[in-house]
Amino acid sequence: MSLPLSHVEKSPAAGIKGWPSWAGYAALMWSVLYGALHLYWLFGGEGYPFKYNEQAGLFSAIVTYLPAKAGGIVFVILCMLGANISLVMRYPDRFSLPRWLILAYAWGFAAGLIIFVPDISLIMVMAYAFLLKFDFNWLMFNQIVCILGALLWGFAVLGYQRWARGACVYCGREARSEPFVLVKWSRAITWIAAAAPLPYAISRFVWAFDPKIIHEFLQENPSAQVTALVFGIICVIGGMLTLGLNQKWGEVFPAWFPFIGGKRVPILLAVIPASMVAIAVTAAGFVFTFAFTVVKLGYLHVDNIIFNQINTAVGPMLLWIPWGVALGLAAIAYYYRRRGQCGHCGRK
Ligand SMILES: [Zn+2]
Repeated sequence: MSLPLSHVEKSPAAGIKGWPSWAGYAALMWSVLYGALHLYWLFGGEGYPFKYNEQAGLFSAIVTYLPAKAGGIVFVILCMLGANISLVMRYPDRFSLPRWLILAYAWGFAAGLIIFVPDISLIMVMAYAFLLKFDFNWLMFNQIVCILGALLWGFAVLGYQRWARGACVYCGREARSEPFVLVKWSRAITWIAAAAPLPYAISRFVWAFDPKIIHEFLQENPSAQVTALVFGIICVIGGMLTLGLNQKWGEVFPAWFPFIGGKRVPILLAVIPASMVAIAVTAAGFVFTFAFTVVKLGYLHVDNIIFNQINTAVGPMLLWIPWGVALGLAAIAYYYRRRGQCGHCGRK
């Protein structure tokens, strides 16, 4: 087998653009350090982060349902296996492991870190920033560390996968490449991503203007009406901005725009915020769907307004997984549609 990524090492691009040359090492380092931290917590160290979050309550991270010892053991094992797999990805000529196993583990680990570790606080902090409220703590920092790990793993396995099928590791194009499949579907995906938050937005407008419901909510939270209105409006505006991922004005600023009208929209200006929201919404979507299922199946009962109104309170959030996934895919499609010639293989 030829040396993997060997042409990467001959002419490595610097910095972020050279990600195929360092993402694998970074995933390895992350796994070793994070696994070691869990080992420390397992032996009684302070600060185990997968704890029931008082503020999030029912909407705590799914991993918090595991007892602390079990959670610690699972993470030490996953990180140890991960460290080995990332070595195999980097040096497949020295170790032999079925390719499907490597791909399944790496993609699964990345997805698991996004599905099971975060609670709803990351999307909350983004939303509450519009109300000029900020809140940050160790549990949230740990969630960001895990999302960072998921991204490192995602890029590491993307590079490996491209190498494995003989494509350019930087752009994924092969000698005779078809356009990326998502690009063909980008219109439909973008519409789904824009429309999926609307039922949630409508439910919040209904709350804000229904005197009976809002009276109940106001007793628990004095700013409930403003919060419901603002969150609804954010979702409507967010949905409209999402459409830009597949429109002319998402590529060139409209002429009437002051200062920047007529200029090209930098690709990452759209891709980075869309991806951040996509990850936070997907993660929260899993938590909401899990909580909704637990309550509906009768495994949990607490007498408060969220529970009494579970269908209208949490029901619209069942669309958050499709929303987050569609938004992520729309952002990827936008990137693939707009990127130019590859600086490494020269393919267009
Ligand atoms: Zn290329």
